[in-house]
Amino acid sequence: MNDENKQRIALRGPVLSFRDDPFIAGDAAAMHYEADGLVLIDHGLVTAFGDYQQIRTQLSDHVVTEYKNALIMPGFIDTHVHYPQTEMMGSYGKQLIDWLNQYTFVTEQRYADPAHAAMVADVFLRECLRVGTTTASVYCTVHPASVDAFFNAAQSRKMRMIAGKVLMDRNAPAGLTDTAQSGYDDSEALIQKWQHTGRLSYAITPRFAPSSTPAQLEAAGALWKRYPNSHVQTHVSENLHEIAWVKDLYPERSNYLDVYAHYGLTGPKAIFGHAVHLEESEWQHLASSGSAVSHCPSSNGFLGSGLFNFLRAKQNPNPVRVGLATDVGAGTTLSMLQTMGAAYKIGQLGHYSLSAAKAFYLATRGAAQALYLDDKIGSIAPGMEADLIVLDLHSTPLIDFRMQHCAGIEDAMFVQMTMADDRATQAVYIAGQLAYQRD
Ligand SMILES: [Zn+2]
Repeated sequence: MNDENKQRIALRGPVLSFRDDPFIAGDAAAMHYEADGLVLIDHGLVTAFGDYQQIRTQLSDHVVTEYKNALIMPGFIDTHVHYPQTEMMGSYGKQLIDWLNQYTFVTEQRYADPAHAAMVADVFLRECLRVGTTTASVYCTVHPASVDAFFNAAQSRKMRMIAGKVLMDRNAPAGLTDTAQSGYDDSEALIQKWQHTGRLSYAITPRFAPSSTPAQLEAAGALWKRYPNSHVQTHVSENLHEIAWVKDLYPERSNYLDVYAHYGLTGPKAIFGHAVHLEESEWQHLASSGSAVSHCPSSNGFLGSGLFNFLRAKQNPNPVRVGLATDVGAGTTLSMLQTMGAAYKIGQLGHYSLSAAKAFYLATRGAAQALYLDDKIGSIAPGMEADLIVLDLHSTPLIDFRMQHCAGIEDAMFVQMTMADDRATQAVYIAGQLAYQRD
């Protein structure tokens, strides 16, 4: 095969994508499912997607790979995850603030060592591919070298990734703090070095309001104003003790989100992790400002944080952009399939039954919309980047048995999000190139 041929590939099999938001358009109208689908890819971009019989005439010298008993779909997008915490997943027995002090702030000090950061970044991205996650919005640590290590690793895999240096200038150990000025300067240097290098984007990353002084949040807002193409990522309203602490630290602000709004840190491309205990006025500000939230269900269960309010988040009119996320290391898995299963359980505890279509949407196109990347990733359509995964719908003997009793694609999707894990990832394509293949 010559190089030219290698750039033109086609995948045939059952294909799922989303045309629209199922929370608004309804599940059936939003889904685009082809039982015998064909996806044509040229130099990393999708050029056509449709029913095999209808678009097969567009095949020329494409190398065609056929997948049976599988589901070809957009790669998963994890909208909130801490790569340095990969090594501390499953740390026992604390809620947010104690968990940060006892585990996170100990672990993250190791990332002063660039070699350690590079080693863990490599493990993290290897695991992302194994679970079919092709894009993530990633927290590094306070150390600029932790960002260099991550972006170098992502760059070598040609993955579309967002990441940023954590900003913390109080309420953390000395080894993990910067200052308002040094945090600004280091972040600016990283933006100039990495923003829009290949497929990489920078996120200005204050950890959360309690670990930044007002001066630091003000500097972060000024930095975003100067580099408005950057993302902003932080945490909001995860835990009741945290919320009370924010009220103590910022008594002049009307609520937690208002702290960020005051310093110019809300708006399009700002994404807020958790958003579990928001007041109605906070929901309204998220919607009207175009800000997004990350729902982190396995983390919220693990730390006992609370139940995300799907109904309010996606309420019509004024729905908020929502993406699903693992929040590793408080999250208990990097698998977005398992995260969808966790989201279903969180919904059930709040008397809301999240459908399979809506869950898959939140992990693909919905997540891309939350990150304002839906013109590039998250769905399969002409012009989109070909970050695709192939799910094996029969990845364990038990799932194989269960699948014999599935009535249709939505049944099959629900079984996958309830029962499947990394073993279901059969293949991953990054920008049209095979990047992972299960044995
Ligand atoms: Zn987090």
